[in-house]
Amino acid sequence: QSLATGETPVETVTLEKQQSHYLTHVLRLGVGARVLLFNGMDGEWSARIVGAARGVVTLAPDDRTRPQVFCPDLHYLFAPLKHARLDYMVQKAVEMGVSRLAPVITERTEARRVNLDRMRANAVEAAEQCELLAIPDIASEERLAAALERLEPARALIFCDEDAPCANPVEALRALPAGQPLALLIGPEGGFSDAERALIGRRSNVARISLGPRILRADTAAIAALAVVQATLGD
Ligand code: SAM
Repeated sequence: QSLATGETPVETVTLEKQQSHYLTHVLRLGVGARVLLFNGMDGEWSARIVGAARGVVTLAPDDRTRPQVFCPDLHYLFAPLKHARLDYMVQKAVEMGVSRLAPVITERTEARRVNLDRMRANAVEAAEQCELLAIPDIASEERLAAALERLEPARALIFCDEDAPCANPVEALRALPAGQPLALLIGPEGGFSDAERALIGRRSNVARISLGPRILRADTAAIAALAVVQATLGD
């Protein structure tokens, strides 16, 4: 939804039921209250609540308070972990600027069902805490083979593999053609099977990287890899 033409707000914005509920019942805001508004495209806006009837809040944006900052196009493919570790991993990935969260089910994935609402809530909370102006897309879980097929050929796949020869990951990332979209893949608690490694290896446009000689827990590996990727290829 476009908030503005140039600098002039041209329309009111109607919130979804869940957001409306949060403003009116959790924060107990009513008509006349001010909120900050973003939609991932037009920056952050100061807005006034102008309607709150039948569970639907309408806002009138007036001033742009921050311009939009665009993050690199970075998909994060990960084998879901259980409960608190998944919450943590999702929060950290959002803070580190991924554009899409894509849970993949691998042979050794223990948590095979993902609560997408909980993931979304964690993503929104992390974005709010870190004043991000975009919330990543959240994909439903799918098997590794399907997730790999879904990736556009031009999207470089950064495959984190504890069995990869130890070498500087920065050099491997710098060797990728500049400006192409990226996907980062992190495995489950038990790692990838040989068959999965072979499947990933058959894809073109893969950078298989080591994060050092120690096996990291999956959530630690995610943060380490995202830090290296953002420091090397991010804006
Ligand atoms: N058993 C631990 C756990 O419960 O989290 C370790 C899991 S480790 C096998 C999970 C994933 O983290 C791997 O599939 C790989 O993607 C990534 N990883 C861990 N250590 C790594 C390393 N040194 N280099 C590259 N990737 C690594």
